[in-house]
Amino acid sequence: MLDTIAPRSGQKAPDVCGEKGPLVNEQTLSMRLERVAAHVPAGARLADIGSDHGYLPVALMRRGAIAAAVAGEVALTPFRSAERTVRENGLDSQITVRLANGLAAIEPGDRITAISICGMGGETIRDILDSGKAYLSGQERLILQPNGGEQPLRQWLMDNGYRILCEEVLRENRFDYEIIVAERTGPVMYTAQELYFGPLQMQARSPAFLLKWQRKLRQKHKTLTHFARMQQAVPEEKVQDIVRQARWITQLLA
Ligand code: SAM
Repeated sequence: MLDTIAPRSGQKAPDVCGEKGPLVNEQTLSMRLERVAAHVPAGARLADIGSDHGYLPVALMRRGAIAAAVAGEVALTPFRSAERTVRENGLDSQITVRLANGLAAIEPGDRITAISICGMGGETIRDILDSGKAYLSGQERLILQPNGGEQPLRQWLMDNGYRILCEEVLRENRFDYEIIVAERTGPVMYTAQELYFGPLQMQARSPAFLLKWQRKLRQKHKTLTHFARMQQAVPEEKVQDIVRQARWITQLLA
């Protein structure tokens, strides 16, 4: 059994949650969270950081898919919400809800084997991992679902010896979501393009991945057209960065 609740105050402003709806709860997960759930190893001791309602750990526990969980939340309203979901499902002895900033929700006695951080920007996830290094044993599987900012997140994984084991792109509610699964294996090297597109996705070239990048390419072209029409000069460095991204995407899709 996990320890009892140990509230700790968080410093960081929380990201805004976008997903709500009558069909999304601890029994019926969104497709996005269902795909995240599929990467949580059977029998894991899961820390779900930024858990909001606690739907992911509660759904996994209800299915008997995990052994124990911590639901960490930095903001009071979602923390209370996660507490309620856990309580209403009678899972207080298996899921501990903690008010904490990032990985500070994890205590050594939890013996966590998997960490999910989902539904936030990739930079936010990277910052949570970076500022919470002291809470990582290095044995945990990371299941990350960034909403944008994948490149800096992959950069952090590479810089910290995490190999990407699995990646996927999925589309739901007109958003493209990415899932990145990683484990610490020691030194790993990815090219700049692999960090940008995802090393495994570049190889697999799934339909969802290609559609995402077709849409992205259209956006880049629109941005460049917009820059060209602007009265004020856009810094050349900024323009060249978008030009380079558009070139990479064009090469990928060729
Ligand atoms: N993980 C859920 C999902 O994917 O559906 C909820 C996503 S919601 C958009 C993001 C949640 O992360 C919010 O409830 C927010 O309060 C929480 N959050 C943001 N930064 C955090 C941090 N540093 N530590 C813990 N929770 C955080």
